[in-house]
Amino acid sequence: MNADIVAFKKQLKDKGTKGLVIDLDETLSWTIHHMAGELAKLYGNPQDLSVDELRERIIARDIPFWKVEEIRKWGLQALESEEMTEEYPIIEGSDKAVEKIDRVISVAGYLTLRQTSIRDATKRWLKKHGFPDRPVITRPNSLKLEEGMKWKADTLAYLYPQVIGLIDDTLDIFNYLPSSYKGIIFLYGKTDYPKSDLNIIPCKTWDDVYKKVVEHKASLDQTADRKKGLS
Ligand SMILES: [Mg+2]
Repeated sequence: MNADIVAFKKQLKDKGTKGLVIDLDETLSWTIHHMAGELAKLYGNPQDLSVDELRERIIARDIPFWKVEEIRKWGLQALESEEMTEEYPIIEGSDKAVEKIDRVISVAGYLTLRQTSIRDATKRWLKKHGFPDRPVITRPNSLKLEEGMKWKADTLAYLYPQVIGLIDDTLDIFNYLPSSYKGIIFLYGKTDYPKSDLNIIPCKTWDDVYKKVVEHKASLDQTADRKKGLS
């Protein structure tokens, strides 16, 4: 495991707190959404799709109206651009929800597939939008994007139990987390997900994420009280 991540876990352990980590792209930041709009301006939008539809099609890699190689090259450059990183629109309501969530179960940090070369720009973006100032765990520059999801799942599993869960929009991470993973995944923006042994809590909106975190905290406290009662 990367030295930064080992140090992060140790710091949490020393403090004795348990917290959540939060994803960035399409969870707090309209990253692909923003890119979809830019791509439509650059390469056209022959099917006249909305930006929402374009975003979904990009995520599903179903964009036959664009030249795949051209888009891929542009996308890789965009993902390394500090300037663009700072421009991404915030997902409405995520800032207020995160502030409230942090008072229920603390936000330990952010866990993202973004590469380390844009970590500083990402920190500036988080600060600009008033998100809690916490460590940002980024994909090592040496690791390819395709290897990212496995890295992210391994990191999340390694950080347990100091990090008890993740707020994320992606289903993809389920393919890489061991089924024995005990943490919780608050799945933002989705209500459908494949059957899994993992602890997945779907939350359509940021308000739902907050409500589910509150419910979860109550059940965590109950369990703790029961344990105390037994001893
Ligand atoms: Mg994401």
